[in-house]
Amino acid sequence: MLDEALDLFLGSRCVGCDRPGRMLCPACRSTLSSRAAPAWPTPVPAGLVPPFATEAYEGAVRALVVGHKDRGQWGHRRVLGELLAVAVREAATGLDPAVPLLLVPVPSRPGSGRRRGYEATAALVRAAAARIRGEHRVVVAPLVVSRGAADQAGLDAVSRAANVHRSMHCPSAALARAARRWPRVHVVVCDDVVTTGATAREAQRALEAVGLPPVAVAAVAATRRRGPTGDPAVGPRPPRG
Ligand SMILES: [Zn+2]
Repeated sequence: MLDEALDLFLGSRCVGCDRPGRMLCPACRSTLSSRAAPAWPTPVPAGLVPPFATEAYEGAVRALVVGHKDRGQWGHRRVLGELLAVAVREAATGLDPAVPLLLVPVPSRPGSGRRRGYEATAALVRAAAARIRGEHRVVVAPLVVSRGAADQAGLDAVSRAANVHRSMHCPSAALARAARRWPRVHVVVCDDVVTTGATAREAQRALEAVGLPPVAVAAVAATRRRGPTGDPAVGPRPPRG
């Protein structure tokens, strides 16, 4: 009934199966993961801290990320924030729970959200932080982009690394406050998608430069990298079904 009404009034369809109704239907939502896993890119940027992702970047998850980041479908931040929270929990497994988690969203890449003043990744990280707050003390503090890195889409791993190298710096005022307030924090770099790891590695470099070395990267999703044989070289988990 609700789905029919949404279709009638909003013309909305599920991003996963195109069924009229909610933007993510209950059936597609039920396929989303509640477990995260290591998601190393190939090749691994030198020195990258362990990255964790909850989903493979494909299907409904990809549609949710693109809709949220580039098409103004900001309502997706709730479900994407839940997926990011799963990855952050995995990244924080085994860490001292008495030490606060400092979640640092990588700056959003160019897109319609950014143009309208909506920092897509930061919004996801705040949504994830709200889910984790009962379990950990959590602070969210952004990095600052010191020069505009070009859109990463269409660039290979080497070009991406060159494009973003030294593009970020900190501390932002919030990071400086966090560093003053807590002598110990566990820093986790957060992003929507891990592709080559270049952006996360640059965020890691900028944080290390001010004495806030990250312990991990957490992302909603990771692209499936394929080896020369066509088999998945690395992926968040084996293919479903
Ligand atoms: Zn669906």
